Amino acid sequence: MGVSGHIVVAGAGITGAATALALTEAGFAVTLLDRAAAGSAVSGASLACLGTHMSSEIELPQLIWATRRWAEWDRRFAGAFHYRRCGQIRFIEHEADIPVAEHWIALERAAGLTPELLTRERLRRVEPALTGPLVAASWSPTDALVNPFLAVRCLISAAVAAGARFRSHCPVEAIDVAGGRVTGVVTPGGRIAADAVVVTGGPWTAELVAPLGVALPILPRKAQCLATIRQPVTIRGVVGGCKSDHGGVDAGYTQIQQSEAGQILFNTVLAGGLAEAGAQGHVPEVDRRFVLDSIDTLTRLFPALRAVELLRSWVRYEAVTPDDRFIVGAVGPAGLLVAAGDNGTGFCRAPVIGEVIAAALSGRPCAIDSAPYDPGRFPAAGAT
Ligand SMILES: Cc1cc2nc3c(=O)[nH]c(=O)nc-3n(C[C@H](O)[C@H](O)[C@H](O)COP(=O)(O)OP(=O)(O)OC[C@H]3O[C@@H](n4cnc5c(N)ncnc54)[C@H](O)[C@@H]3O)c2cc1C
Repeated sequence: MGVSGHIVVAGAGITGAATALALTEAGFAVTLLDRAAAGSAVSGASLACLGTHMSSEIELPQLIWATRRWAEWDRRFAGAFHYRRCGQIRFIEHEADIPVAEHWIALERAAGLTPELLTRERLRRVEPALTGPLVAASWSPTDALVNPFLAVRCLISAAVAAGARFRSHCPVEAIDVAGGRVTGVVTPGGRIAADAVVVTGGPWTAELVAPLGVALPILPRKAQCLATIRQPVTIRGVVGGCKSDHGGVDAGYTQIQQSEAGQILFNTVLAGGLAEAGAQGHVPEVDRRFVLDSIDTLTRLFPALRAVELLRSWVRYEAVTPDDRFIVGAVGPAGLLVAAGDNGTGFCRAPVIGEVIAAALSGRPCAIDSAPYDPGRFPAAGAT
């Protein structure tokens, strides 16, 4: 594309933060805007596992690139976002799921990673409190966790230190177009001229670009989380359900981990949890059934946590696309780009998304294959 000049990035979750940093480092003048505080939507509510295990066959090279970049950032920013390489277990409750786990393990090992299938004995050594009725588990030792608030803040601070401007509580109300090109954004504080606008607005992205004739197939999906009061160290790594029809609560996705502060965090995306467009604007309470199912699963897997007390819960909306992959790149009028459709795993992928946008706007080759994210796979998105 080869744009030069000033770029507005609209949305300061982890995608916008990584994009602003990549663009600033590529030499652009960048203004990052958020209608609220940085990381205040789904990013701050995240469990922020950076994992290559059982995530995506198509995106495995991109995930490996992303997790390496996160490890580099950890060194570069001297531990600023509490990166912890704790590994990830995927528990297996049904014999029928063992071949599924073996398939993922073979695939990832062929790509140079080191996951393995654990016997019950090995599992006891890796995650001693996981004593529920499991038939096996897979283990990916290189998967890691970060503190989501600190990670968003760290990347924005790095972008600002390199010359970017950041304004919170500054919603983009409209994107201006003249002569078939983006010319800036409208905010309550006035118009900001731009040579290109990158919309990183999570589930709000589709409605922001719709007035420009761009129809993005992105819908909100409810993700719910519970936190217990502080516990002694009980869970060492990330514990998730095996990716299959039988795994987790109600065949959705389950993720359990313990925060550095000692809270047990429990996230479940219920199967079929897509909401109607616009639902992300109203944040409801967690479902009663979610709480009951969660407690049931937690105490089944970790019997030692039977009497544990819940502290709080929260709900956020992730941005879901029909094929579970981000939509990243140019759409609609010249100078308009989007980077949204996190499908519940956007924290890990954020460095890749920043690289794809920076390469597209600079017109230089991308360090990774950006084809999985091509907006052109959805013709109504009006890829340019
Ligand atoms: C409980 C839970 C657990 C999770 N666990 C993991 C995990 O382990 N690993 C993983 O990789 N992912 C995980 N995720 C998903 C991950 O958090 C998201 O994929 C990621 O945070 C998406 O980031 P984003 O920047 O694209 O979106 P968001 O964080 O939603 O950011 C979008 C931003 O755009 C702003 N915005 C919207 N409209 C406008 C506008 N008009 N003008 C200006 N700003 C605007 C919003 O205020 C918001 O800050 C989890 C999510 C949840 C809820």
